[in-house]
Amino acid sequence: MPYRILIVDDNPNNSIALKLLISEYINAEVVEAHSGERALKILCEQPVDLILLDVQMGKMDGFEVASYIKKNNKTKDVPIVFLTAAYISEEFKKRGFEIGAVDYITKPIDEYQLINRINVYLKLIEKERNLNILLENKIKEQTKELFMQTEALRRQARELKKAKEEAVAANDAKIMFLANITHELRTPINILLSSTQLIKQYLSTSDSIDKVKLKKQIDIQTQNCYRLLRLVNNLIDITKIDSCNFKLVYIKCNIVEVVEEITMSVVEYVKAKGISIIFDTDVEEKFIVCDLDAIERIILNLLSNAVKFTPKGGMVFVNIKDFQNYVRIIVKDTGIGIQEDMLESIFERFKQVDNLLTRKSEGSGIGLSLVKALVEMHGGKIKVISKYQCGSEFIVDLPVGNIDCSEKCSSFDNSSIQNESNVIKKINIEFSDIYF
Ligand code: ADP
Repeated sequence: MPYRILIVDDNPNNSIALKLLISEYINAEVVEAHSGERALKILCEQPVDLILLDVQMGKMDGFEVASYIKKNNKTKDVPIVFLTAAYISEEFKKRGFEIGAVDYITKPIDEYQLINRINVYLKLIEKERNLNILLENKIKEQTKELFMQTEALRRQARELKKAKEEAVAANDAKIMFLANITHELRTPINILLSSTQLIKQYLSTSDSIDKVKLKKQIDIQTQNCYRLLRLVNNLIDITKIDSCNFKLVYIKCNIVEVVEEITMSVVEYVKAKGISIIFDTDVEEKFIVCDLDAIERIILNLLSNAVKFTPKGGMVFVNIKDFQNYVRIIVKDTGIGIQEDMLESIFERFKQVDNLLTRKSEGSGIGLSLVKALVEMHGGKIKVISKYQCGSEFIVDLPVGNIDCSEKCSSFDNSSIQNESNVIKKINIEFSDIYF
């Protein structure tokens, strides 16, 4: 940016001569003012880098003009060089410097000396300008850095707050879990104990044992042992999944056949509770890569929940839909449904819709979190649609997987599902907290 020099002299001849001299040697814009008032006006309107100010002027002399300039915040830092032919005594020089001039040059002026001095002032001005730019940039940088630090601190504070909230929530969940587990463990153990005492009583009071009564007690004991086993199995599996020690064994299988077999195997149990079950499918055959045990756990768990939360006379539907890259398995019931505010947390571990003390059905609340983990380990998704008092629909999407990789995936041999005692045991375990 070129410099702007203001010459203030009430004698136009002097001012023109000075302007010509400056223009010859210095690359600067020269502005003239032929009175003090005019000079002050120009200074208000445009920025000026250096003022060459005559002392002896008509209405307002140079000293007065300089005082105004120094009083004005906008102009106080513009360097003033006094030029004078009349006020040459030391007393005037002293006054000029006291007002704040950077120089006091008396006439006749040595032209080269004047040009040299103006150049020195302009260089100083340039240095100051650069320094200002440097300072401004530094301040900008520091402000930016400070802003970033503040932002980082704010982020940290937010993260800390979130971590704290999560820790509190995790702790609450743990407390809830312990309450549930204790209840879940205590109930079947108490039943087992009372049943044993009853058998003891039968034995001590009569010589011949009533076989019907005895069988009933043994059935009760068996069911409660299955309940304990289910709980322990779920706990072991959840722990294994958490520590990444739960390994899936993938095989290629016809998922339609697998789901149908599982559904058919629970028909008698479902009927015994006065509920109808209907299986329907889009396709007869759909091969996917999956872990058979995990699929059994998923379907049996969803079926046992559907039966558990559906009153007598209700219906359970199992549907399969084929979507090229994935298969959709739907387990739907006409049961009690789930309240809207609980739908989001239904798959969270240890969440139970029913309050522990008031609930009508048994359960630890880990079943669905295990189901979700198993579905996700297959690369699938699970969601629930439910309306309170109108039933629930659990939708599982399982990807087909790499069915061409035949080395890794042995073909499905449905003997594991058809092994009756194996299936009955699994159903007994999964359905153990349903009372028929
Ligand atoms: P659990 O392991 O005790 O069976 P789940 O994790 O399977 O528990 O289910 C958690 C809760 O979700 C159940 O206690 C129940 O309140 C609700 N729930 C699950 N399935 C259904 C369903 N089909 N109908 C109504 N409520 C259900």
